[in-house]
Amino acid sequence: MSSSGVNSSPRASLFVLAAPSGTGKTTLIQRAFSGEWPDGGPPEFSVSHNTRDPRPGEVEGEHYYFVDEAEFQGMIAAGEFLEWAQVHGQLKGTSGNEVEGRLEAGVDVLLDIDVQGVESVLAVRPDACSILIVPPSFDELKRRILDRGHDSSGDVTRRLSVSLCEIERYALFDYVIINDDAERAGRQLIAIIVAWRSRLARRLHRIEMILEDFHRALEPGERR
Ligand code: ADP
Ligand code: 5GP
Repeated sequence: MSSSGVNSSPRASLFVLAAPSGTGKTTLIQRAFSGEWPDGGPPEFSVSHNTRDPRPGEVEGEHYYFVDEAEFQGMIAAGEFLEWAQVHGQLKGTSGNEVEGRLEAGVDVLLDIDVQGVESVLAVRPDACSILIVPPSFDELKRRILDRGHDSSGDVTRRLSVSLCEIERYALFDYVIINDDAERAGRQLIAIIVAWRSRLARRLHRIEMILEDFHRALEPGERR
């Protein structure tokens, strides 16, 4: 469990979401972001830096910041990344700028990163909420990757073999969502985020204010 305990009293939460490529993480994030939220809205999405070329429909600054390798290496040297990793042959990273200011301002942030990235984030932010999304089976993951049609057959085999290593790291995570039914899994993602926001560490300030209110309202003789 990646909790730092009740003393951290965080004003905002960091959610880190990982899934083997093709599981449906993008689909679930989109569903959750446009779904019904019983408490607050969705966290803000952190846009990663990425050295691969944009795919058709991908928008600079919305899906990724597309940079070349020299620029990415410069950012690593300048210590600008909260985490970075080589993912399927490309460099990808979360800049501190995408995350720190928002958390300090009390805004929740969600990272869509790979399992190596989750491990790096938890090393520096052990109070982050980590969520692993897994496919219901190997065959179903293969079908989804093939249907998506982004990858050559060599890439499909490589992604499936990386997937095994990623699922084997399940013990890193606070929560697991099995993406068999996208509708149900999307609702589960919202439920996890909403439940995490009610954790004691996050509610300490509010609960202390409510207690003070009770103390003010009840005379000492009226207390048990
Ligand atoms: P990821 O972001 O994890 O790589 P995507 O969200 O791009 O995956 O989804 C990969 C493919 O699987 C897409 O074609 C998507 O429509 C499909 N998909 C996602 N979730 C489900 C699901 N629960 N059942 C069937 N197909 C799904
Ligand atoms: P794509 O198909 O977009 O090239 O790669 C998607 C994979 O890269 C997903 O597993 C996604 O979570 C991961 N990824 C995207 N951005 C980052 C990042 O900033 N850091 C890390 N570590 N992984 C990332």
